[in-house]
Amino acid sequence: MAGSSHSFEENQAAASEHLARFAESPLLHLIGGQATPSASGDTFANVSPIDGMHLGDVAAGDAVDIAAAADAAADAFGEWSTTPGVRRKAILHDVADLLEERAHQIAVTECVDTGQTMRFMSAAALRGAANFRFFADQAPSAADGLSLPSADHVNYTTRHPIGPVGVITPWNTPFMLSTWKIAPALAAGCTVVHKPAEWSPFTAHLLAETAHEAGLPAGALNVVHGLGETAGKSLTEHPAIKAIAFVGESSTGSMIQAQGAPTLKRVHFELGGKNPVVVFDDADLERAADAVVFMIYSLNGERCTSSSRVLIQESIHDEFVERIAEKMRNVPVGHPLDPSAVIGPLIHPRHHDKVCSYREIAEADGATVIEGTPWADAPDGGQWVAPMLFTGATNDMRIAQEEIFGPVLTAIPFTDEADAITIANDIDYGLAGYLWTGDVGRAHRVAHALDAGMIWVNSQNVRHLPTPFGGTKASGIGRDGGDWSFDFYMETKNISVALNTHAIPKLGG
Ligand code: NAD
Repeated sequence: MAGSSHSFEENQAAASEHLARFAESPLLHLIGGQATPSASGDTFANVSPIDGMHLGDVAAGDAVDIAAAADAAADAFGEWSTTPGVRRKAILHDVADLLEERAHQIAVTECVDTGQTMRFMSAAALRGAANFRFFADQAPSAADGLSLPSADHVNYTTRHPIGPVGVITPWNTPFMLSTWKIAPALAAGCTVVHKPAEWSPFTAHLLAETAHEAGLPAGALNVVHGLGETAGKSLTEHPAIKAIAFVGESSTGSMIQAQGAPTLKRVHFELGGKNPVVVFDDADLERAADAVVFMIYSLNGERCTSSSRVLIQESIHDEFVERIAEKMRNVPVGHPLDPSAVIGPLIHPRHHDKVCSYREIAEADGATVIEGTPWADAPDGGQWVAPMLFTGATNDMRIAQEEIFGPVLTAIPFTDEADAITIANDIDYGLAGYLWTGDVGRAHRVAHALDAGMIWVNSQNVRHLPTPFGGTKASGIGRDGGDWSFDFYMETKNISVALNTHAIPKLGG
């Protein structure tokens, strides 16, 4: 997170160089190792969030292209699933090596395609490479199981890759999130059809291209671009696809579950969040304020684990609000390729309008709106926003209940521990919870009481790859990370071998 070692000018030069290819000819699907246009010939336009510039056209896939990719993944499954784990490990480490070499290319591409700033995207490829290395190291032991002997039988479990899988990703941090799904799937021995978000398609191609250059066999990783309701839907319905790993909105997760029901798809869902950060009056308030500001105003607030609701104990409420407001006013908005910028433009006009609409919603509900500092030189035609802080909110307001997914924080006062827990849990979502206190007993009590999949105490979101990631309620189904990823991408089989000491009932004499 330390920021790019490249200057603004160097980043701009790299962006011109690396994005030229997307402007020159349409970005195609990658099916069976081949760049492939849509069978229909259809394309869609990809537009920059910075200034509305046309970045290039992208093949718009549908059921026909998905079927071709699913066939390619099914054909490749035989070879890849039986490739020894040590060989898969070596290839996936080679992928990581190449991703590290291309980190700057990936970072500038992601910045221009998504509007996320270089300050955070400079780490995106490195984090993606780390994901590949982490899961690569476990490929040789992924099939290992448990020994569960009984008196008369030796029982042991083994794991087997489930088959070709579908990975469907959103636009907020597309490269990193893709690697988080694709690396464990490949390490497990599955083959993949990836449907990236239509608002940010470029780095999915860089990932697949790099993986093939590193030695991944053709068909092991296929990419089909296109809209969710066509390409995405077809992927979830295809009978050869055994599981869907999906990251996106809760409402899309519901649709995918219905679409996948006829073919009994296994699903893993990472969905929306409206995560509380609970600040008690005995906390280290300066560290807490920095963490709150970081967790909502980094990554444009387009972050599923953002601390989008700050619950502040009444005795410190005004002081703490002033602390975070002061910091928010100094959060710089700027060009995504400028290493000093924190907040860049939002991904798409539709998303920009949604985020900005909450200003009026907050005012109409009686909350107070504090605005940060806009970028005076913001280019026309982009989706620029200044950070916002809503105060005086109550938990029944829309600004307290709905996922805004922008650099917008809602502050809510609470009286005591019980009140904090009630407010924190009175929400449809349950992805993450954060709490700040100097009382170790309270830290554990509240951590246990919060209804969410992940709790950080006196910390921002710091990921440790072996730990489980996922949410409760409308925030998701299942967990990944560590061995949980292998449980999802693999079938567990129990093998029971008799010691020939047990009685077998004789029914026929
Ligand atoms: P989205 O649900 O609109 O789209 C996500 C992906 O699903 C896209 O690739 C889209 O094309 C595809 N899709 C849409 N309709 C589909 C359908 N009917 N069938 C199959 N695929 C379909 O989400 P988004 O707006 O791209 O991303 C923002 C959301 O993602 C937020 O809600 C955010 O909280 C969530 N998110 C969650 C996590 C997490 O780990 N829990 C991480 C990042 C983002």
